[in-house]
Formats: sequence, C-alpha cells, structure tokens
Amino acid sequence: MSVIIISPNWHWNGALANRARTDYIALHHAEASSCTAEQVDQWHKENGWSGIGYHFFVRKDGKIYRGRPLDKQGAHVYGMNNRSIGICAEGKYSTETMPDEQKRAICRLLAYLKDCYYPNAQIVGHKEIGDSDCPGRNYPLEDIKQNYRAYAAEKEVDEVSREEYNALAARVEKLEKQQDTMIYNYVDKNMPAWAHEAVKWCVDKGIIQGTGDGLGLSNTKLWVCVVMYRLAKYIAKLVGMKV
Ligand SMILES: [Zn+2]
Repeated sequence: MSVIIISPNWHWNGALANRARTDYIALHHAEASSCTAEQVDQWHKENGWSGIGYHFFVRKDGKIYRGRPLDKQGAHVYGMNNRSIGICAEGKYSTETMPDEQKRAICRLLAYLKDCYYPNAQIVGHKEIGDSDCPGRNYPLEDIKQNYRAYAAEKEVDEVSREEYNALAARVEKLEKQQDTMIYNYVDKNMPAWAHEAVKWCVDKGIIQGTGDGLGLSNTKLWVCVVMYRLAKYIAKLVGMKV
C-alpha cells in the first residue's frame, strides 16, 4: 500500500494541543467546489483557529495534503476534537458528485491510517458525531465506509488502467513461452506499433543506444522498454510530474 502525502510547511498560530485518543476518523467536505489546502488554512485562521483544522485534505485530483500533525488535536468536529482525526475532501458534496480519483485517494488514506496507526478507530461522517450536514448528502459515505479496502487495493493495479495492466500481464506470460528470436531496429517498420512510443522514449532519454546497425531489440527487450516507460509514467503521475 503506497500513499503519497504532500506536507506543506504550515505556520501555526499558537501551540497545538496533543490529542488524548483516536476513536473516530471523521470525513468532511470543504463545502467549496474548488479550493486548495492553503485556502482552507487561511479560512480557518480567519476563524481565529491555529490553522487548517483537518489532519488531511484530499483534492479532487487525488492529491493528499497533510494538515495538522497526526498526534495533535484538530478543529473539525465541535466537542470531539480530542477523540478524532479529520479528513476533508475538496468539493461541495451537498450537490456535486465525487470524482473516482478523489474517492480512491481517500480510501487509500483510510486503509493506511487503519493499518499503521488506528486499527480500532471508527470511520464516520462528520454529521454522525456532530451537529452538521457535512460531508453532504452526495458524499459516498456508506460506500467508502463499507468498501474502502477494496477501492484502496484496486488502485494498486489500476494506476495506468486495469485493461492495460491485464494486457501487459498476458503478453509477459505469453513471452515467457516464446523463443526470444524476433529482432527489431529503431524505428523498424516491422516493430509492433504497441512498442513504438516506449522505444522512442527510451532512445530519447538515452536509456538504450543504437549501433550503426540499429538497436537490435528482441521481443523481450521491447517489453522491458514498455514496462520502464509505463513505470516512469506511473511514478510521474504519483508525484504530479510530466514524463
Ligand atoms: Zn465537516
């Protein structure tokens, strides 16, 4: 289970109190269709609070930001801050529909928090432990509570797409049974179309180099190029960079 958490360099107004216990992981929405963690921090400072009141903020694109330190009290459920941590989703889920990317990120974060920190904490919506409509009637609260592990696990093989992953796995399996005799040069008209983009990328990045006779790529080597290329795209997507 990999979860990438972006940690902004927050400046707290005043000291943060330690939290006594963690009985609940409370789910919230920002009640704003589009906002950043920095904006939420600013809004909460305008309330006279120390800074962003949630422990995590998850954007619609699935990027996860750390708010309050995990062992400190948040400011997110009146009267329950000494017993709970808070995860807020960008969006207005009284009317909007949550993007899959964001839902999966919240599920990965929940699985990580349950596995590594709070196995006994109960996942709840803000409205279940406080006087509020949060996180909004369209927030997939029951779906996330019941299925967060399945969504979290699904994402492990779905970073490019499930179809691509299955096709890749099937080809690798088939290749293992083949003789490694097919040789291609760059860009050989006989080279299969599925390999062109990846081989070009590997050449452009200097990962593979040709000789006067070309690249002499076997079928297996083509697949190594494809796997490297997809891995690079996958990692770049995780950290929000372009390949
Ligand atoms: Zn809330």
